[in-house]
Amino acid sequence: MNLQQLVRKNIWNLKAYSSARDEFKGEASVYLDANENPLNGPYNRYPDPLQWKLKEKVSRIKQVDVKKIFFGNGSDEPIDLVIRIFCEPAVDNIVAIDPTYGMYKVCADINNVEYRQVLLKDHFILDAESVLKATDDNTKIIFLCSPNNPSGNLLDKNEILKIIQNFSGIVVVDEAYIDFAPDASWVPQLDKYPNLIILQTFSKAWGIAAVRLGMAFASPEIISLFNKVKYPYNINVLTQNFVQAELDKLELKEEWVKTILQQRTHLEKELKKIALVEKIYPSDANFILVKVDDANVIYNKLVDRGIIIRNRNTVSLCNGCLRITIGTETENNTLIEALSHII
Ligand SMILES: *Cc1c(COP(=O)(O)O)cnc(C)c1O
Repeated sequence: MNLQQLVRKNIWNLKAYSSARDEFKGEASVYLDANENPLNGPYNRYPDPLQWKLKEKVSRIKQVDVKKIFFGNGSDEPIDLVIRIFCEPAVDNIVAIDPTYGMYKVCADINNVEYRQVLLKDHFILDAESVLKATDDNTKIIFLCSPNNPSGNLLDKNEILKIIQNFSGIVVVDEAYIDFAPDASWVPQLDKYPNLIILQTFSKAWGIAAVRLGMAFASPEIISLFNKVKYPYNINVLTQNFVQAELDKLELKEEWVKTILQQRTHLEKELKKIALVEKIYPSDANFILVKVDDANVIYNKLVDRGIIIRNRNTVSLCNGCLRITIGTETENNTLIEALSHII
């Protein structure tokens, strides 16, 4: 892979904005460089543009070099950045699996980049060959999502590997749900595959969706490109401090995951007993996709009872399907109770 050939020329040549906090690093006693108000501490100061303290902590927990970490305002920021860095609007294209997370297509559309969808096989199985066949000389990115949303299943590791090894552009593997899955993350493989970008988030297993912090892991060269294009102070100081403290809850997070997985098993077992449930797809995530006899009717009847799930009826390969997030034991039982009263 030749990174320079893959990156848009204007981005490769871009001279990034240099903020006051970029130009002076270290500790000083008097800061008169950033036009801040000196009278209203402590939130009067601009935050660290590269979030080094937070990166050091994530680096220790995930065993990954700080230079290979990027933080965004949710995972949506790195999804948008990767498209803006690599894809020339109206010229380049992206290949992704279908069905999958909707933001890849929205970001491609916003950037006027062609988005090619390759249907997964039955049971939402990934076939590397058909994905590779959809690429051409203008394909810059392949988006994969494992465990996949909305199907819930992990994609086959060997098929992902075939794509990484045989595609000369960027492969993004979105691991938003990896904490719930039995497979290992791709993060330890980064050194072997310079074209790999891995996305993770604090919104799911870590339980802090409101805080908006997403992570991208990639080679230092790719991370430098992200840093060049991002807004100078994209992660505010409240988020940086808050997440640093939340990272001390590693063991608690693992307990939450265990509880959610137990509840997933419980919910699957109870759903099987309900007549209107036709199929429960196996899940490696904190949600389950179920096929029912009439998704729209059941969705609306649950809404009437104040229970909101996700209607995936119009999504490719998901005809008749509802996506159910695993809730607390009480919430799950409320759902089961409601479903058993809908005929
Ligand atoms: C929920 C989710 C995310 C997380 O998005 P954030 O912007 O980090 O909250 C990313 N990818 C997929 C596939 C998801 O389902």
